[in-house]
Amino acid sequence: MNTYSPRLARLIEALRKLPGVGPKSAQRMAFHLLDRDRRAAEQLGLALNEALSGIGRCPSCRMFCEDAACRYCSPARRAAGQLCVVETPADLMAIDAATSYRGRYFVLMGRLSPLDGVGPEELGLAALQALLDDGSVQEMIVATNPTVEGEATAYYLAEMGKAAGIKVSRIAHGVPMGGELEYVDGGTLAHALSGRTPV
Ligand code: ZN
Repeated sequence: MNTYSPRLARLIEALRKLPGVGPKSAQRMAFHLLDRDRRAAEQLGLALNEALSGIGRCPSCRMFCEDAACRYCSPARRAAGQLCVVETPADLMAIDAATSYRGRYFVLMGRLSPLDGVGPEELGLAALQALLDDGSVQEMIVATNPTVEGEATAYYLAEMGKAAGIKVSRIAHGVPMGGELEYVDGGTLAHALSGRTPV
């Protein structure tokens, strides 16, 4: 079925790797970049290269980070004594933008999902344990999504926190069951964080 020339085929195949992009969209994007906007295509290539070589992960919170000092792990945030655990970088961004929370974060990069083979080890929870054990955290706020797996993860995290003698709370109000934090509006999210409950 595929009659693209080799380079075009590779470009379309690469675009199809993006989330939500099917064959038709990938072809439209490729043609747009090649035909209408070669300058944008050049900038896209450059930005991708720069991002790949210049953006890493903060070893502490595991958020994307491009400077030696992570902006989410500043001394001021550390001094707040709070650690908010989220599933994804997008959840971190949503909470930080919508709420007045200014403590530190820990990004799970997923959630516990035994059926998919994702256990504590796959999530790297040893790194979280190290944070909980270093004496800098007074309160852990569990902000996993209110999905079945998010709740199971929250339960596991709460046990970790309690075992480490740390106050644990869970965001609660207004976040719809089955919802994803990334898509919850700012007001609801702010309310959810301020209305967190001890677990
Ligand atoms: Zn960090």
